[in-house]
Amino acid sequence: MKNKLSRRNFLKISSVVTASTLLAGCGVTSESNSESTLPSSPDPDTETETSTQADVLVIGAGIAGIAAARKLEQSGLSVIVLEARNRIGGRMWSDTSLGVPLDLGASWIHGIEGNPITELANNFGIKTIVTDYDNAITYNAEGKQLTDKEDSAIEALFEEIYSEVEFMQEDTDNDMSLEDAIEQVISGKKLSKEDLRNLHFYILGQTAEEYGADPSDLSLWEWDQDEEFDGDDVVFPNGYSEIVYVLAKGLDVRLNTKVLSISYGSDGVEVETSSGTFGGDKAIVTIPLGVLKQNQIEFDPPLLAEKQDAIDRLAMGVLNKVYLKFSEVFWEEEIEGFGYIGENLGEWSDWMSFVPYINEPILLAFHGGEKGFALEELSDDEVIAGAMETLRTIFGNDIPEPEGYTITRWGQDPFAFGSYSHIPPFASGEDYDALAKPIDDVLYFAGEATSREYPSTVHGAYLSGIAAAEEIA
Ligand SMILES: Cc1cc2nc3c(=O)[nH]c(=O)nc-3n(C[C@H](O)[C@H](O)[C@H](O)COP(=O)(O)OP(=O)(O)OC[C@H]3O[C@@H](n4cnc5c(N)ncnc54)[C@H](O)[C@@H]3O)c2cc1C
Repeated sequence: MKNKLSRRNFLKISSVVTASTLLAGCGVTSESNSESTLPSSPDPDTETETSTQADVLVIGAGIAGIAAARKLEQSGLSVIVLEARNRIGGRMWSDTSLGVPLDLGASWIHGIEGNPITELANNFGIKTIVTDYDNAITYNAEGKQLTDKEDSAIEALFEEIYSEVEFMQEDTDNDMSLEDAIEQVISGKKLSKEDLRNLHFYILGQTAEEYGADPSDLSLWEWDQDEEFDGDDVVFPNGYSEIVYVLAKGLDVRLNTKVLSISYGSDGVEVETSSGTFGGDKAIVTIPLGVLKQNQIEFDPPLLAEKQDAIDRLAMGVLNKVYLKFSEVFWEEEIEGFGYIGENLGEWSDWMSFVPYINEPILLAFHGGEKGFALEELSDDEVIAGAMETLRTIFGNDIPEPEGYTITRWGQDPFAFGSYSHIPPFASGEDYDALAKPIDDVLYFAGEATSREYPSTVHGAYLSGIAAAEEIA
């Protein structure tokens, strides 16, 4: 199996992290003194349409649903998109409550070469900025900056351990968790307490940040079976939602329309929603895996066992973001991020600065996997206190309190129930294929968790929507 860590190495020690609420009650809380002056709503055709019949119903107005709907319309089919939220974009969400667009969901195009999202950005003239994970600093638990030598030693240790884990990936007869494999390798080594801490810091950067899951929740065999595009990673200074907004222009999107049940058969599809019943010859379901797992949407007839088993086996992980806006920059202006190897690994470990991208005194901290879920149990005050304790350890007691903040809680979001999918022990890439398989040429499926090649990404979701639309058209 190929080593994916070259691109995904966000916590490359000499670098830093990066991978990567409707407001209260829908998974995000925010507080700010700033006035938002930026447009935050798209321009789909949400008001004028009254028809409840279409050739194709698309369920969900995330990137998969919007891409599918646009493609179908271009093929001359009529389409209605049914969306539960009061906005489009789903897990692409550029929130402006701190006065500038900040991405609460996806931030990056991961690998711009040959990536369809790069092509969209170029075609629509949407601005992107290359990020450099090496332009970062790592601090130890006392807030002391690591030397280049110390950085390199940690990276070398990781590479030594991981090369043995990769060997186990190829060579074991039974799947196990990535953590069990790592522990087996480590048990044969004499590592100091500090080495172990540094190693786990590094590993969490690859797993909890990138896959939304700790090593204990990832399959040794399959956790990194996904593919990737080459090239730089880029962010959107004006928000990632620009992509989905331009694609949605002119589409018939019904917001605040929560799908409750889907009946399907040889005579088409009937979808019951919170805003009435809709009919179509066919439907594309782009509901997130987390929502499918809740079994809240009734399928009639029930989904085939093969598909339901795949839904049960795959898992939904969490990556949460905490944005803090300050009155001034008290960290190094040129750096793009910093890592903190504190006592509690995964807590306030990974930070990104928005000075280089939009010249704003804004920091973003990531919490993924178990730490991401744990963050959701804390009050806003507790979250901010935790952030400030870490920042004071690194930058001293004189730093200002934040002027505003935004905290995501994707695990509690009722229309996502998590950030993105991953492969736990005993599940496999085949489960993504099973989820993608259409039923009776009537009910089609798209979304990040139907993309075996590129799960958990914007481009994977986009390509799955295009594929479903092409199959129908
Ligand atoms: C914090 C975070 C960081 C990320 N970072 C990156 C990144 O940097 N780069 C990257 O490529 N990817 C990233 N991702 C992943 C990426 O955002 C997703 O893979 C992608 O946006 C998923 O698109 P989708 O269309 O499959 O699903 P969604 O965007 O979730 O769309 C599904 C839609 O269905 C709607 N829906 C749900 N239930 C119902 C219902 N009952 N009735 C009607 N509608 C319903 C939802 O509201 C939603 O709008 C990140 C995600 C998160 C959360």
